[in-house]
Amino acid sequence: MEKKVSKIGVMTSGGDSTGMNAAVRAVVRTSLYHNIEVFGIYRGFSGMIEDDIHPMESRSVANIIQRGGTILKTARSKEFKTPQGRQTAYNNLKKRGINGLVVIGGDGSFKGAQIFSNEFDIPCIGIPGTIDKDIAGSDFTIGFDTAVNTAVQAIDKIRDTADAHDRLFIVEVMGRDAGYIALHSGIATGAENILVPESETDIEDLIQSLTQNEKRKKLVNLIVVAEGEKIGANEIAAVIEKRLPNVDVRVCVLGHIQRGGSPTCLDRLIASRMGYHAVECLLLGKQNVMVGILNNKMNYLPLDKAIKEKEKFNNDWLKIVKILSS
Ligand code: ATP
Repeated sequence: MEKKVSKIGVMTSGGDSTGMNAAVRAVVRTSLYHNIEVFGIYRGFSGMIEDDIHPMESRSVANIIQRGGTILKTARSKEFKTPQGRQTAYNNLKKRGINGLVVIGGDGSFKGAQIFSNEFDIPCIGIPGTIDKDIAGSDFTIGFDTAVNTAVQAIDKIRDTADAHDRLFIVEVMGRDAGYIALHSGIATGAENILVPESETDIEDLIQSLTQNEKRKKLVNLIVVAEGEKIGANEIAAVIEKRLPNVDVRVCVLGHIQRGGSPTCLDRLIASRMGYHAVECLLLGKQNVMVGILNNKMNYLPLDKAIKEKEKFNNDWLKIVKILSS
């Protein structure tokens, strides 16, 4: 028989992403609405092991919906990968009577949550919080929209200076092994070329397209490269400089600005919906699912699937890049 969840722990884990605060706020306030005690677990699984667990009330999450980062902090914990580490973590939950968990993070955090849940029979609900958008079962992950919008604003500025000097800019964006930030920001800024790990880069094709652009007297050339792309922005720049010596090439790595800042409306909205539904899931007796949003409807994907399956990359989008930037 399912045990009724009476005390919920909420944490943010793995890489931070903007909008996590809005999700924490939603989990806390939905729990309190149902008269369920709720605890903030600080620094992810590390805080669970080190007993950094504190009761949350409505005011604990006041004035955070618009703030980047995470008030609960986040961390990566090697110790949680050991049975002893997880046992200590469980003991800390047990002594408070916490019998349901909401884990906001990426696939690594979901893996940890699932192993923990299977060992100690504590239902865990995952909320996808990652700027990389590489998790199956949800059209959105918390932080992606903000990261993309930050990249777009930065690339627009780079375009201005590129235009002033007739330069070619290679802009590297984040995303780890996934090319979604590059794909979305590249299309939205009119980049001529978008290089992503999901599609093999053909250097000859790239050189040819740049040569054509030169012939067409195209003044601004933007190449958006995902950080996970095998060849890498600097190496691509070196090849272009060698093959097209009259082209003035610059590399700009956007880096961590993409992780911070106030979340966009979309990120606040999806975080609020996911946080609310995560608590509802626990109260309905659901176990080990990720709360996602597909076609604007809530979607509940078993955590093991969310861990294994990657979001399918839409190669059709790459095809339209060439046509729209000609
Ligand atoms: P991001 O996608 O932003 O990197 P993530 O959640 O995937 O976020 P990870 O560092 O992969 O980040 O995982 C976060 C934490 O989850 C790890 O530090 C570890 O504590 C826990 N974890 C990951 N894999 C396992 C595992 N196999 N067993 C137990 N715990 C794990």
